[in-house]
Amino acid sequence: MTPHILIAGGGIAGLTAALSLHAVGYERITVVEAARRIRPIGAGLNLMPDAVRELDALGILDRLETHAVRTRELRYYHRGGGLICREERGLRAGYRWPQLSLHRGHLQQVLAEAVRRRLGADAIVGGVRVNCLAVLPDGRTRVQLQHRDGATRGLASFEPDVLIGADGIRSAVRAALNPGEGEPPWNGHLVWRGVSRMEARRAAPFMLVAGDDRHKAVVYPLTEPSPGRREVLVNWALTMPADALDDPGDHGRGDWDRRVPVGRFLHHYAGWRFDGVSVPDVLRATDAAFEYPMVDREPLARWSHGRTTLIGDAAHAMYPVGSNGATQSVVDARALAHAMATHPGPAEALRAYEEARRPAMTELQLANRGLGPEAVINLAHQRAPGGFLDIDDVIPPRERREIAARYAGTGAFDPATVNLGSPYEVPVGAALP
Ligand SMILES: Cc1cc2nc3c(=O)[nH]c(=O)nc-3n(C[C@H](O)[C@H](O)[C@H](O)COP(=O)(O)OP(=O)(O)OC[C@H]3O[C@@H](n4cnc5c(N)ncnc54)[C@H](O)[C@@H]3O)c2cc1C
Repeated sequence: MTPHILIAGGGIAGLTAALSLHAVGYERITVVEAARRIRPIGAGLNLMPDAVRELDALGILDRLETHAVRTRELRYYHRGGGLICREERGLRAGYRWPQLSLHRGHLQQVLAEAVRRRLGADAIVGGVRVNCLAVLPDGRTRVQLQHRDGATRGLASFEPDVLIGADGIRSAVRAALNPGEGEPPWNGHLVWRGVSRMEARRAAPFMLVAGDDRHKAVVYPLTEPSPGRREVLVNWALTMPADALDDPGDHGRGDWDRRVPVGRFLHHYAGWRFDGVSVPDVLRATDAAFEYPMVDREPLARWSHGRTTLIGDAAHAMYPVGSNGATQSVVDARALAHAMATHPGPAEALRAYEEARRPAMTELQLANRGLGPEAVINLAHQRAPGGFLDIDDVIPPRERREIAARYAGTGAFDPATVNLGSPYEVPVGAALP
């Protein structure tokens, strides 16, 4: 009999892991998700070409592209409006796969539908949390399933053959493996996100990142422009130190559905305009605004313990810089399934997965604390706080190229490496004993 694999968490990482493990031949897979229903919560996110390549290999790219933008260009701006640099992205930058900007909810729905279609309607159990009781001497973990209120009536405690902690930044599986770690550290900044409905002619066809050393704005479309389309969806995200607010208030634990009025921060972005895109106009057109403290996780010295491991944010939550949160979760899931298919036992497989992924993810977590590719914005502000006439006098082209290339090299997501094709393909059914 094939092993029973329990995946804690039905976010991007957990659902992609279920599809990936099924694709290499595992059949007894259960995804346990704390939310009652998988709902389209959140705002937009970006999938870099390496993740898109893996989702293509899983056969769901066409469905994703029904509601996604092929991102072609990214522009960095000085707060005063000056263009610092522009980068071609995705297919335009020579990748064989596009970079996609899409709503997190759409990605999650497409993944969940595919899991139910391929693994069965019962493969995702909603409204139930995984609680880890003990790591046993044989390397398995005893888990107790709980209702959302903590009650256990009617729910089992058992030892799955393999436990995958895909339960996000406040992972219960991670906490069991690392008792005493506590809450995710906060860097004192707040993040606001939302999706706006705009007249198509007022939305730019590129992704923009703008700001200074304290305030940042990211704006990009979530709808492909097409003749005759009058309204498009535009994603926006802002960051700012909480101490710059008149009333920093209580920003809670960082739940993704914490709604706040736009008036809380709008005035800090007055006059922000970049090649025709007015940030205040985008903010005023939003459906809702959500506040989140900028938190990440310290890199861990170990992800895998016996037959239990971590993927996605549970393993390496990082600041939302450089479009890597969802991207790396997808790649983790595929790497894990590949390791499970190519090693004789789960414990060896989980160790091999960790060896393949942890060093690069640690580097990326640390690079994101240093602002990743957005470091050019701080540099431009530091050298020319009042703006500039010619960016070449402020940051020479070579220095700008070096900053971008250094970050792309961190996660091995440069075009030459990505275009080699997926390193995670295995013959169908390779995992069957
Ligand atoms: C509701 C929500 C909205 C988000 N919105 C955005 C956004 O707008 N933009 C963006 O870039 N990123 C967003 N993110 C984060 C982004 O999805 C992740 O950074 C990235 O995709 C990594 O995914 P993940 O699957 O590792 O973690 P997550 O996406 O956090 O998924 C973890 C899942 O595990 C579930 N879970 C938690 N604890 C348990 C438990 N004990 N047992 C069972 N299940 C558990 C959670 O309900 C969640 O569905 C959001 C995350 C969430 C949960």
